[in-house]
Amino acid sequence: MLKLNTAHPDKTESPMNFHSVFLGAGSNSGNRLDYLQRACSMLETLPDTSITGISPVYLSEPLGITDQDMFYNAVIRIRTALNPRELLGSIKTIETALGRPEQHKRWGPRVIDLDILLYGQIVADSDGLTIPHPEMHKRKFVLHPLLDIDNPDHPVLHCKVSELLEKCPDSSSVEKTSLTLHSHSPSS
Ligand code: ADP
Ligand code: MG
Repeated sequence: MLKLNTAHPDKTESPMNFHSVFLGAGSNSGNRLDYLQRACSMLETLPDTSITGISPVYLSEPLGITDQDMFYNAVIRIRTALNPRELLGSIKTIETALGRPEQHKRWGPRVIDLDILLYGQIVADSDGLTIPHPEMHKRKFVLHPLLDIDNPDHPVLHCKVSELLEKCPDSSSVEKTSLTLHSHSPSS
């Protein structure tokens, strides 16, 4: 018998465009590991989004105001059909849900910080959104965990993350721990 696929006619007409995105995650207040894990779990609930890689957790010294707790940092790779601005809105919602105040000190302690590091090979700089993240190549606590899961090209600096790490002038302490984060996605 001929079977017509009428369930999702709109989806067959405009297939979704998925992108590989790297997110930086950090916490230096409260139960830091739990905040990172909860951020991961919330990322997985976003529409048309799955986690495809998670780095080990790193312990790093705070930059700027140094009189505060060490950071736990990790990088998470997702596959998403959300566009960059939708994704920024979503990560801000997650930050707020986890208790990060909307107004906070620039370099102060934070329960959670989520940044878009790379969004495929897209370059964007408008209305408070800069991709790639303008500080990523200066931060070893970003480059080390990123390189643990992948070695993508930087679309502005035109080199691999491994080369950025070789050239990175950051002299602050960044230490890989045995702590790990988990996702439910089968592919991560
Ligand atoms: P940082 O992450 O540099 O410590 P914040 O988390 O306080 O600083 O971010 C400040 C603002 O930077 C955010 O409100 C957001 O709108 C903006 N922003 C611009 N580009 C990005 C990006 N690629 N990822 C995350 N936030 C970004
Ligand atoms: Mg941020």
